[in-house]
Amino acid sequence: MNKKIILLGATGSIGVQTADIIREHKEEFQLVGFSAGKNMDTARKFLQEFSPEIVCVQQEEDAKALKAEFPAVEVVFGNQGLIETATYDADILVNAVIGSVGLEPTLEAIKLGRVIAIANKETLVTAGHLVMDSAKQYGATILPVDSEHSALFQSLNGEKREQASRLILTASGGSFRDRTRAELENVTVQDALNHPNWSMGSKITIDSATMVNKGLEVIEAHILFDFDYQDIDVLLHRESIIHSMVEFHDTSVMAQLGTPDMRVPIQYALSYPERLPRPEAKRLNLAEIGKLHFQEMDYERFRALKLAFDAGIEGGTMTTVLNAANEQAVAMFLNEQIKFLQIEELIERAMNEHAPIYSPDLETILNVDSQTRKSVENMIK
Ligand code: NDP
Ligand code: MG
Repeated sequence: MNKKIILLGATGSIGVQTADIIREHKEEFQLVGFSAGKNMDTARKFLQEFSPEIVCVQQEEDAKALKAEFPAVEVVFGNQGLIETATYDADILVNAVIGSVGLEPTLEAIKLGRVIAIANKETLVTAGHLVMDSAKQYGATILPVDSEHSALFQSLNGEKREQASRLILTASGGSFRDRTRAELENVTVQDALNHPNWSMGSKITIDSATMVNKGLEVIEAHILFDFDYQDIDVLLHRESIIHSMVEFHDTSVMAQLGTPDMRVPIQYALSYPERLPRPEAKRLNLAEIGKLHFQEMDYERFRALKLAFDAGIEGGTMTTVLNAANEQAVAMFLNEQIKFLQIEELIERAMNEHAPIYSPDLETILNVDSQTRKSVENMIK
């Protein structure tokens, strides 16, 4: 195995952990290109360490500065640069950018029939049907990186879709799982960023606290594995040891377990269909853990999860609206412009005001996405 890898979102939480895997397995993987947003320190560090052939940054000034320092590297920028990087010659594209900005680069790489390891769940939520239909058309392979979906993929273990009856996604409950709704009224950004089990980027940490993350994951599971929403369950499991499960028609349930460490599903997507050792990783010791806990999901307490099911069942552009409204609302919460509970209120309002368009094309999705962001911004003016 010597796989050339392009990594979009290299400077983020998933990106940096993907770089760890590439570093730990130099014989197996080579980083030929990556994208950064605005974090030039990490971009420079990776340019020195991995000597890639192409790099993309968000802003033109940063691209000029990097080109002066690394003249041998092709330096591109902005959304067009992201597409150039995504379609650069390689074996695997890892999409670890945050938000629906990852959609077009993914669609372009799919047209080249690439293997795409997708962490960027917003892309699947906003336009999953376009991604999966064109993957089929062009023979591209989509491999999940998100821990729950990697667990579902591993638990399905190549068995036919018809053999399975139900997907069971586990949820840790996020930073506020033990608080009542009343106690959420005045929580701060700092409180919300404090996740009990996983260390992640700030947007997804807020999504975990609101439970929007689990909602996006339910939609992601529907898209990736073709299960109806009524056949997807969410189970509260505070330890995050069982990463998800698949029930089969004979009532057998297959689960994937492990310590909460994103490097495991990231590495599996890179090495698939093989497995590589992880010498540094902590092994699962169930005797030490002693007990695992499970609890039914409370859809009134975790209202955003209910909204995500509603958006998924409605279909069409409703999931685009859910995602865009959430991205805008989370940005405003992180900026301290709105309170925590307003995130789900704004999502609900955006969904109520939207008349969904079914089987939307790319242009329609991009329009609905930008319209929704604007209208959510206006709701608090
Ligand atoms: P981060 O916020 O840590 O990183 C996001 C990456 O995207 C950074 O490299 C950032 O650049 C880049 N980026 C942000 N905005 C833009 C833009 N407009 N154009 C180009 N690049 C941009 O996110 P995470 O790593 O936490 O998450 C990445 C994706 O993976 C998300 O979809 C998330 O839901 C999913 N995911 C994450 C998990 C985790 O453990 N973190 C677990 C499962 C899924 P820079 O920082 O340089 O500005
Ligand atoms: Mg997840």
